[in-house]
Amino acid sequence: MMVSSYFPEIERSPSEEIKKFQESKLHQQLLYLSANSKFYADLFERNKININSINFIEDLVHIPPTTKEDLQQRNEEFICVPKQSIIDYITTSGTLGDPVTFAMTDKDLDRLAYNEAISFTCADGSPSDIYQLMTTIDRRFMAGLAYFMGIRLMGAGVVRVGNGMPEFQWDTIRRINPSSIIAVPSFILKIIEYAEANKIDYLNSSIRKAVCIGEPLRNTDFSLNTLGRRITEKWPIKLYSTYASTEMGTSFTECGQGIGGHHHPELIIVEFLDENDQPVPESECGEVTITTLGVEGMPLLRFKTGDVCFRYTAPCKCGRTTMRLGPVIGRKNQMIKYKGTTLYPPSLYDILDNIDFISNYVVEVFTNEIGTDEILIHAGSKTPIFIKEKDIKDHFRAKLRVAPLIKFETDETIQRMQFPESTRKPIKFIDNRDKSKHN
Ligand SMILES: [Zn+2]
Repeated sequence: MMVSSYFPEIERSPSEEIKKFQESKLHQQLLYLSANSKFYADLFERNKININSINFIEDLVHIPPTTKEDLQQRNEEFICVPKQSIIDYITTSGTLGDPVTFAMTDKDLDRLAYNEAISFTCADGSPSDIYQLMTTIDRRFMAGLAYFMGIRLMGAGVVRVGNGMPEFQWDTIRRINPSSIIAVPSFILKIIEYAEANKIDYLNSSIRKAVCIGEPLRNTDFSLNTLGRRITEKWPIKLYSTYASTEMGTSFTECGQGIGGHHHPELIIVEFLDENDQPVPESECGEVTITTLGVEGMPLLRFKTGDVCFRYTAPCKCGRTTMRLGPVIGRKNQMIKYKGTTLYPPSLYDILDNIDFISNYVVEVFTNEIGTDEILIHAGSKTPIFIKEKDIKDHFRAKLRVAPLIKFETDETIQRMQFPESTRKPIKFIDNRDKSKHN
């Protein structure tokens, strides 16, 4: 069998070799940062860090992690190159209001293209594929451009439709006959609905697979979550989940086995940290903390993504020996400690999405009189007469072993809670916890 040039040998190497390989790259990255990054040179100096003493991945724990607030407050100090070397400017939404700018050099764009070429290859892609891009390529985003460049590098075809416009999407599928779509999973549901409403024979279309971005598709046991199931029950195409962010400039993409996003050791180091920024053992989930490798414009060292995941290190049937990243189980700051169980809102959403008589909902967390987290589900229903509180609680007990408080509201009341003035994305989670009682 011919191995694709975008299936690098390091991804098939023993784990000790991958670690050594990463450590040599880490050394170069540290030298680069101390010479070119104002933020990191300052961080090393203030914390008396001798970068020559950071030789192993385990040594990284001696360097304080970088937070989203650092990126926002000291944005300029992260940029390692003169302005004339910057080609592409990208922004991400900051946590404190203003967006954070990312500067990409020519070499960074090549790195990004390479990342996508190896990621699409991992997701069973080949030069014979044609991808229909259902995400935007402009608007200061990284992803759409990265996909285009990666597909081009891999030698496959691409048709750039952009997001939305179901009619235009189907027209393109009919004309170009792409084999694959790149889309946000909830948008796939929308185009299925559109096809059904307009009698489009989508089951016999050319689409065989979808590279899914932005939303998780799987539960922690890798079975499809409600969203993933809703898509495949209607439209039996193969779904590949991916996880990526602008800060990482790297994707974790599933192979055909669908058991976690594969790590690309050439591009990024990943650590999993607990609440005190200490590494967690492999059996526990931790905050994904990344160090970019080979980035020129705005490299990051121990950047805390805020996403909590499990990791898996057993070799995969696809031939890769790299670590696999499980689905994001939640945001670090949304962790709920409830009756001895640690929960994240997405696990609650998944249950609520599965109860057909609940039409919409908002999950509220607050601090109760004994100072612990309490969960109150505001559930809306179109048929309030037949509300079955016990049924709902049973669903929760079956999945999570605990049942939250439930308050029934009308559909309209929930709608108003989800869309207070000037919000476009529905609010599903309200955190009313007394922060002084948490550390
Ligand atoms: Zn695999």
